[in-house]
Amino acid sequence: MLADLLDLVLPRDCAGCRLPGRTLCGACAAELGSPRPHRPDPCPAGLPPLVAAAAYDGAVRAALLAHKERGRLGLAVPLGIALAAAVRELDPPRGAVLVPVPSSPAAVRERGQDHARRLAAAAARRLPGVRARALLLPARRVADQSGLTSRQRAANLTGALRARRRLDGLPVVVVDDVVTTGATLVEAARALRAAGADVVGAAVVGATTRRWSRSPGWAQPLSIRSPAV
Ligand SMILES: [Zn+2]
Repeated sequence: MLADLLDLVLPRDCAGCRLPGRTLCGACAAELGSPRPHRPDPCPAGLPPLVAAAAYDGAVRAALLAHKERGRLGLAVPLGIALAAAVRELDPPRGAVLVPVPSSPAAVRERGQDHARRLAAAAARRLPGVRARALLLPARRVADQSGLTSRQRAANLTGALRARRRLDGLPVVVVDDVVTTGATLVEAARALRAAGADVVGAAVVGATTRRWSRSPGWAQPLSIRSPAV
């Protein structure tokens, strides 16, 4: 909490472009403003409908890294607004729950925070009738994903997460800061479905892709609908 306040009130530079002033300047925040459907290529089996607020690039990448790795916790506000806009595109029913992808306990200790959980809470505050709950837990340790192919990542992750309790019929949206191959979102959706949840979709702030601007369906940014009621 103190860190949030300090990040908000102290003179800072923009996490996106380093210009002095706000935590995230208007120009960099604008890069977060057009959520679109996203499919990783190749698209892993079992991936729910996915919406990304922006490409994981430039100012967006810098802001997400500053929030996750450098404790710029005030960035949870603009990043949470962007995540909320992505969730809105999925049109979740009233009573839906945003479920963050959990970090490993070691990562949370190292960073001193759980970044996806913070973003989920920030997004839910802007979505009437929607809550955020950390309903997923790591079920086992996972090998380092770097250097693995999409297929190897999927095998490495299967069974890595579990739900805290039965979630029969509960509408849920999986949320995370970044999607790369989609394997983590697939595992989160699998664990939630196994507990009986109705997985409406998944939403992220940044999508890594070489084809961000050329994917089918990306020519026209989706209109941002009014908040779900
Ligand atoms: Zn900026």
